[in-house]
Amino acid sequence: MTGHPWQWDESTWRGHVERVRAGRSLRPASWPGGAKVAVALSFDSDHETPALRDGEVLPGKLAQGEYGARVGVPRILALLAEFQAPATFFMPAVSALLHEGEAKSYVVSGHEVALHGWIHERNTSLDPATERDLAFRAADTLERLTGTRPVGIRTPSWDFSADTLRITRELGLRYDSSLMADDEPYELLADGEPTGVVELPVEWIRDDAPYFMMDRFSALRPYTPPRGVLSIWKDEFDAAYAEGGLFQLTMHPHIIGHRSRMVVLTELLAHIAAHDGVWFATHAQVVDHVLAARP
Ligand SMILES: [Zn+2]
Repeated sequence: MTGHPWQWDESTWRGHVERVRAGRSLRPASWPGGAKVAVALSFDSDHETPALRDGEVLPGKLAQGEYGARVGVPRILALLAEFQAPATFFMPAVSALLHEGEAKSYVVSGHEVALHGWIHERNTSLDPATERDLAFRAADTLERLTGTRPVGIRTPSWDFSADTLRITRELGLRYDSSLMADDEPYELLADGEPTGVVELPVEWIRDDAPYFMMDRFSALRPYTPPRGVLSIWKDEFDAAYAEGGLFQLTMHPHIIGHRSRMVVLTELLAHIAAHDGVWFATHAQVVDHVLAARP
């Protein structure tokens, strides 16, 4: 790759776009049991790892993450049990090692545990061999701690490198949940070729972090009240329901797990559950269904 972008020839700019792209839609004609909508809740159990990844090793930042494991997770598991809603927990391996009982408890409670890096590393800052090594170590660690081999990945911070899809395929994973080319599931293409890997797309709109994150020493401040977030997420769900599609949501125990925000999550789940034909499913269950239902 040489020169400025405006100097690239067509094969160069087209090559960048084609490296990882959305292929055919995997939106199914129907959901299991005649459900009108699939609801895929996810929690990224990062806890202390984003601070550790940034070399923030002092107690203040680490305690903010520890809250997620100590307070957020028990509240979330109780709420999911109340609504009988299976969910997916994307957990960095170091977080799972710090909270071994938690990783196991997800599986025991009927939820899915999936990959979310080794220490919440930024993939695009790593060389390919290091990214690959961390991904394999993370998969082995989660399998050892939970007794189940992960079948999906969410790249930490949705930071997807030029090598991530190749590593995902080498790991034999069935799905990724880090990209944003659709509202509905789709198949990932690598250099124009179908990969068989399903993308369950995410969006910052359906993520608690951009609304609630706060950093004492920067201009990062929450700007949306919790009930404003509830209103956005209800609108997202209502539209998914009207279209007969997928409602996917990303949250973090150390962010959503606080009192005023759990009120919002509780009201959201009550709003969803009040509809006919709601299928709460883990990400892996959604993937299994769309693969089985594809024409
Ligand atoms: Zn994360």
